Amino acid sequence: MNERIYNFNPGPAVLPEDVLKEVQSELLNFHGTGMSILEISHRAPAYDEVHQQAKADIKELMGLGDDYDIIFTAGGASQTFALIPLNFAAESRPGSYALSGSFSQKAYEEAVKLGVGTVAASTKEENYVRVPRQDELNIAPGAAYLHICLNNTIYGTEYHYTPQTNGVPLFADMSSDMLSRPWDFSSYDFIYAGVQKNLGPAGVVLNIAKKELLANTPAELPTMLRYSTFQKNDSLYNTPPVFAIYIVGKVARWIKERGGLAAMGEANAKKAALLYDAIDSSDGFYRGHADKGSRSRMNVTFRLPTEELEKAFVAEAKEHSLGGVKGHRSVGGMRASIYNAMPLAGVEALAAFMNEFRKKH
Ligand code: PMP
Repeated sequence: MNERIYNFNPGPAVLPEDVLKEVQSELLNFHGTGMSILEISHRAPAYDEVHQQAKADIKELMGLGDDYDIIFTAGGASQTFALIPLNFAAESRPGSYALSGSFSQKAYEEAVKLGVGTVAASTKEENYVRVPRQDELNIAPGAAYLHICLNNTIYGTEYHYTPQTNGVPLFADMSSDMLSRPWDFSSYDFIYAGVQKNLGPAGVVLNIAKKELLANTPAELPTMLRYSTFQKNDSLYNTPPVFAIYIVGKVARWIKERGGLAAMGEANAKKAALLYDAIDSSDGFYRGHADKGSRSRMNVTFRLPTEELEKAFVAEAKEHSLGGVKGHRSVGGMRASIYNAMPLAGVEALAAFMNEFRKKH
């Protein structure tokens, strides 16, 4: 197959084609160095420019000031699940977790292993069809933080509000909605995202946190597990995932050039509405997994009347160059991930296919 398909994979996911082409054009000779970005030192001025531009553009997009630092870590968001309690919680100051899906559950379990995790709320009993409401959040007194997963990639749910925590620092896993719309980022003390959905390839975690928080992590932690190491050394204590950061920088620039988060938010809302309309107007043929009040604009999850029809949907979608629509095994059915780089035309094609498929079956 020579043509690119519409790729609805949940992550790694579609990247802007313009960015991929630019990367391709620079691959052999990066900015006149006569070397690839893959071959130069992470301490070379040419790389430093990449590193600083990525950070500056992300901060500008998020509207955050000097009280926040950006650090790049490896190990995926899954490693961050452990780094957070290691760096910030203690038995006397546990982390408080709102459980809204598999990833928040995994984050919580890492804190439990360290004896520092408590549950603020859980919607597990309802098969995670919605995120917890503000009035359900029972934050442990003296908690080190409240941890939420803002967008639940597997279940297709998302917070449409920022929790009030009464002074407890607010931490959020934004892996699957990072930079997808304007948000009150400054209400958060620690934000992190595995970048392989909205922002780049796998290999780096983007962390944005209050400066003073990063500065005060336990000295007894191993060097590379301590956030202060990353802060003090501008994420260059060791060799960072250079190539992933380079692409994140390009994606941030791509977002800026297209009007920033306001433009992303508008386009993403429009795309999500197309798919939810296709579900809602299907006379029950398509059943959304998420409660309407918690619907994600990034991952649209739905089931069909039978598993046979679901198999046929995946196969026929593929024939229409619509890939990656099979849902996660824990929810079943379909999931269309429609991150920033998914063009409107791709979502229009999927919505049209959904209508056609329903009429046919
Ligand atoms: N959090 C969320 C919301 C995710 O969607 C994912 C990955 N799908 C993770 C965490 C885990 O990320 P990683 O694979 O980078 O460890």
